[in-house]
Amino acid sequence: MPLAALVQEITAISPAAHLVRLLAVSKLQPAGAIAALAGQGQRAFGENYVQEAAAKVQALAPLGLEWHLIGHLQSNKAELAARTFDWVQTVDRPKLVTALARHRPAGRPPLNVLIQVNIDDEDSKHGCSPDAVQALAAAIAREPMLCLRGLMTIPAPHPEAERRRAAFARMRELFDALAGRYPQVDTLSMGMSGDFALAIAEGATMVRVGTALFGPRPSP
Ligand SMILES: *Cc1c(COP(=O)(O)O)cnc(C)c1O
Repeated sequence: MPLAALVQEITAISPAAHLVRLLAVSKLQPAGAIAALAGQGQRAFGENYVQEAAAKVQALAPLGLEWHLIGHLQSNKAELAARTFDWVQTVDRPKLVTALARHRPAGRPPLNVLIQVNIDDEDSKHGCSPDAVQALAAAIAREPMLCLRGLMTIPAPHPEAERRRAAFARMRELFDALAGRYPQVDTLSMGMSGDFALAIAEGATMVRVGTALFGPRPSP
């Protein structure tokens, strides 16, 4: 789908109060494909693999783009992640909080972070349990080199839309509670190519779209 058509669709279904942000998910896409979208006005890009992203961030630095990590982060990659990204959306344990804070270079703005929530309690998934959000948020808020911006989730791919809707709605409740405690919390990242309209209907403020925008991903 052309960028302009996707932006138009997102704009049409955004709530009156705020425009939902589009994160273009560029994992496995070559730097040229990212530069092409940037030329059409897209600023924010999401990557899953720290090393792959670091090379693209360096190659495209003159474009001044905003980079988000949306893949699972191993602690031993926290240093490179803290130097590479503007946002890390996958913070799900206290060890990452301290590692990212320690390695964020002085002189850069604080690293924006989202807490990844395993909203459907899937064994196979990363993300913290909903019960763990408050403690993690408090730990992030204590770090001057981190800025807590909100929550992120990848719900289970339930075949029934109602189950998926319910998961998004539970995220919205968690998000509203968090935003009530922390004034800088403004981002609820949920919804991908197949379900971004449903996620927006349930309160997403940022959607992460890959294949609908770039077409099928090249294999690694
Ligand atoms: C790959 C990925 C996306 C984008 O998925 P599409 O179905 O290609 O839109 C969004 N979020 C995360 C966390 C991803 O890993």
